[in-house]
Amino acid sequence: MVGQSIFRCAMRFIRSIDIDPKVVRSEKSTRVGFATSVDDETIQVDFTIEGPVEPSEIAVSEAMLLATVALAMQRKALLRVRGRVSRALRHTINLYQEACAYWWPHRYHRVPIDVDVVDDQPPSTARGLLCFSGGLDSIYSAQNLKAARQIDTCLLVSGYDVDPENGGQHQQRRRVSRLLERLDLPLIVVTTNVRQVLGQKVIEGAQGSYLAAALTLLSDRFGRGIVSSGLVDLRDVGSSDPVHEATMPLLGSTRFPVSVYGGQFSRLRKLADIAAEPELFRDLRVCLDRVDDGHCGRCPKCLLNAFAIVAVTGEWPMWYPQSEFDARHLMAIRFNETRRRYAADILNCAAANGRDGEWRIALQAHVDGAGSPVATRSLVP
Ligand SMILES: [Zn+2]
Repeated sequence: MVGQSIFRCAMRFIRSIDIDPKVVRSEKSTRVGFATSVDDETIQVDFTIEGPVEPSEIAVSEAMLLATVALAMQRKALLRVRGRVSRALRHTINLYQEACAYWWPHRYHRVPIDVDVVDDQPPSTARGLLCFSGGLDSIYSAQNLKAARQIDTCLLVSGYDVDPENGGQHQQRRRVSRLLERLDLPLIVVTTNVRQVLGQKVIEGAQGSYLAAALTLLSDRFGRGIVSSGLVDLRDVGSSDPVHEATMPLLGSTRFPVSVYGGQFSRLRKLADIAAEPELFRDLRVCLDRVDDGHCGRCPKCLLNAFAIVAVTGEWPMWYPQSEFDARHLMAIRFNETRRRYAADILNCAAANGRDGEWRIALQAHVDGAGSPVATRSLVP
């Protein structure tokens, strides 16, 4: 019956993507990936784990399912993965597809998946593994989850948020290594070429699935994977965070749960806590820019977080001195619900801490002019 329904469903899909995962081990690394073709295009994707690990067949097939679901959704293709995956993941991956198709209907469509299923095994250990990029959310999570003995290792997925040109990935790796040394947490690096090979049109909106793929590759050594996020408004259709609290758990299973940590704390609280530790604060990066591992000083994250740092600490960050402030850059920011709420929090924090300046007046004006009203207290009577 199941086979027939897949067949009927597949009839509507002209394209198919066939994934036959390959594992190549050497003394120093383990490469897991696949080569496939779709629309006469050959696609070769790999994830290289530093160190000789031996991922089980289920870890490999689950990881490759996670690494290809966005491609299949974007190309409207039947996805066939050779191998077996946990029954729980096979179920929730369809719910994940529905969330993606709802949030980014111009990009993703629900597609049929053909893969063998097994009952979920128990998690391999109680050890937790945290994805770590060196952003505010991940630094905060690493510090708190280590203290609570929820994690003992961090995973940097290199190639995921900084492009390989211009040495940005090396900068990020050095910075992440410094941060984790200070936090006394070991680092595992998985390097992937998904961004270069699949491109923004596939990746954007589904970045969380690539983090889940990298975490799942290590599911024989760790019993659960954790990613960090802030609270993101579910109503932000088309701009919701691809590492959302509501969708990331759909990329795990009862064999290897994937969860999100950090939404329960405000971004301003995280900033205040990390700013109190200069050793960590000086290596914080908040920028959206992918060109290198620095700060562009123009994107919404650079601007809003610079204002937040001024509101919290009274000082401008080194990467955005006061002389850089240009109200025109601020006016160019398009507010979604999440950014609007953050800007309102920053203004309230500035009022409470008595911080004022040209930036605050410009931010208040932009919030006031950007649509629905938000509750802020103005310093100007
Ligand atoms: Zn930036």
